[in-house]
Amino acid sequence: MQMYSYVSHLECPKCGAEYSVKDVQQLCTCGSPLLVRYHLDQVKSALTKEEIGSRENSLWRYHELLPVEDRKHVVSMGEGMTPLLKMDRLGSEYGLTQLLMKDEGLIPTGSFKARGAAVGISKAKELGVKTFAMPTNGNAGAAWSLYAARAGMEPYVIMPLDAPLITRKETAISGANLHLIDGLISDAGKVVAELVKDQGFYDASTLKEPYRIEGKKTMGYEIAEQLGWEVPDVILYPTGGGVGIIGIYKALRELQELGWISKDRMPRLVAVQAEGCAPIVKAFEKRKAESEFWENSKTDAFGINVPKAIGDFLVLEGIYETEGNAIAVSEEEIKAEQALTAKLEGCFICPEGAATFAAARRLKESGWIREDEKVVCLNTGQGIKYPETVRAEAPVLKKGEKLSL
Ligand SMILES: *Cc1c(COP(=O)(O)O)cnc(C)c1O
Ligand SMILES: [Zn+2]
Repeated sequence: MQMYSYVSHLECPKCGAEYSVKDVQQLCTCGSPLLVRYHLDQVKSALTKEEIGSRENSLWRYHELLPVEDRKHVVSMGEGMTPLLKMDRLGSEYGLTQLLMKDEGLIPTGSFKARGAAVGISKAKELGVKTFAMPTNGNAGAAWSLYAARAGMEPYVIMPLDAPLITRKETAISGANLHLIDGLISDAGKVVAELVKDQGFYDASTLKEPYRIEGKKTMGYEIAEQLGWEVPDVILYPTGGGVGIIGIYKALRELQELGWISKDRMPRLVAVQAEGCAPIVKAFEKRKAESEFWENSKTDAFGINVPKAIGDFLVLEGIYETEGNAIAVSEEEIKAEQALTAKLEGCFICPEGAATFAAARRLKESGWIREDEKVVCLNTGQGIKYPETVRAEAPVLKKGEKLSL
């Protein structure tokens, strides 16, 4: 019998403990995030990659490899299957002949956080969750609030006062219980932890529920599918909590196990961070297995302002296992690359996405990326969500004044 999902169980990557997907689960008792496992052997005989190609244009085309067991619990706004664009003009600027951009700006709520929200909310609905709480730097709160509205759930969202106004507005208009905090996302996290303890709410904090990562991993499936079930040489990812890079790594390993992509080739994964918040880069440079809390973190690329990620060891594992890299770029480089991408390619990308292009430029200069390698940069959101990062000065004409050039 063909099943909608071939989900098997939850597994702890640290201590190996297993949990059921039929009950609400948060972290492992050892404190580690949990990963979702599937009956991949059964998927292998039930499904071909050719069949996937004929399906709906959203991330639900991979439903066998997602955790929602009954189709009726799926909460979707058509997220996923974003374009993989050729960036030829920018590529020739860097000296790269095969530069590509996976454009997550074209997704409901304006950032790739919608992927995690769609799958996370759908699974929460299946588990009977009615109320949840989460801290956010902005985009995740906006996405989870809007998908929660569609699912008829009640979210409590705690957001730093200086999170971007637009994400605050997205959250507010959804009807979520929004509270602001004069502090960082880590302070918001403490408020959420108390709420969860006192009220028994579902904890939807990054990696404290196991299903957000399953939504984000579909970026990995899509990149492989869009390249004809081949992997690129390098994938650059703007890394905050690291859910996306962990997910992409997990997805590619699953595809290898299914035999849909070659077993002996993985792309080199690159975690890109801002110089003002680079805990993963620091750990990578010392070949450490975990990162340390980054004091006084600061960057305009707010999606990657995460001083200590709970899944840092998984991010680093993905980098080490693929002979990847971790690199920090400056605010000036981010701004310059954001402008250049708009000028040369017509793409108004977010600062986090621009950081990956700045990193690609540098890694080409240093020789770590070669001229003819296939390079995919992830643009995780839309530039128009960050109006304050762009200057738009222009001469003003008086009414009736002739424009003389
Ligand atoms: C959240 C976010 C990131 C970082 O995502 P992680 O997968 O948690 O590392 C990058 N870019 C944008 C625009 C984001 O909102
Ligand atoms: Zn464990």
